[in-house]
Amino acid sequence: MNRIIIGVTSFQGDVEEHLLASKMALGRMGIEGDAVSVKTPEEIERVDALIIPGGESTVMGRLAFFSKSLELIRQRILEGMPVMGTCAGLIMLAKRVYDRVVGEKKQQLIGVLDVTVERNSYGRQRESFETLIDLPSLGVSGFKAVFIRAPTIVEAGPQVEVLARLAERPIAVMQDNIIGTTFHPELSGSTALHELLIKKAQAFRAK
Ligand code: GLN
Repeated sequence: MNRIIIGVTSFQGDVEEHLLASKMALGRMGIEGDAVSVKTPEEIERVDALIIPGGESTVMGRLAFFSKSLELIRQRILEGMPVMGTCAGLIMLAKRVYDRVVGEKKQQLIGVLDVTVERNSYGRQRESFETLIDLPSLGVSGFKAVFIRAPTIVEAGPQVEVLARLAERPIAVMQDNIIGTTFHPELSGSTALHELLIKKAQAFRAK
């Protein structure tokens, strides 16, 4: 069986939208495969790529830890499994995290992406908004980016490629097999970032 399986972690957050966007991306690319929600180590072991959705990173981290999946996710990413973390999912992937108001909080992280992330970075006034962005290295323009109590990336290490910026700060980044966005690409209508993950999943599978 050569079907590509994209797993969406379902500890907490907007899982359904990512399942739909992944299925749509597979269809648009003409690739046999499926998107499934995953939670247990056994389920996570079987996927070719993983999406960690938006939601609430502290809750997500706790649930992933208690279901004994956090360490396996970290290991599989370090072994090269492609992963995309969006919003809270990006926070989970980051090596360094603090909250704009309450500062550093002990929270469970996967900690593989060399960035510093500020949680709830836009404050009350601009908690949620959407805007059109360009992803030049993907040849995409006018991508609708939806920000919901979004974080910002305040610092990125040298191996981190910035795919898009907003007001100087990176909002979409890539470090080898790891993709992170501060916004919600599953609400965009464009499946460009899901397609990027699927391409990485195909390459990972071919190894
Ligand atoms: N504010 C959330 C957090 O810090 C992230 C919000 C989101 O994922 N939409 O975890």
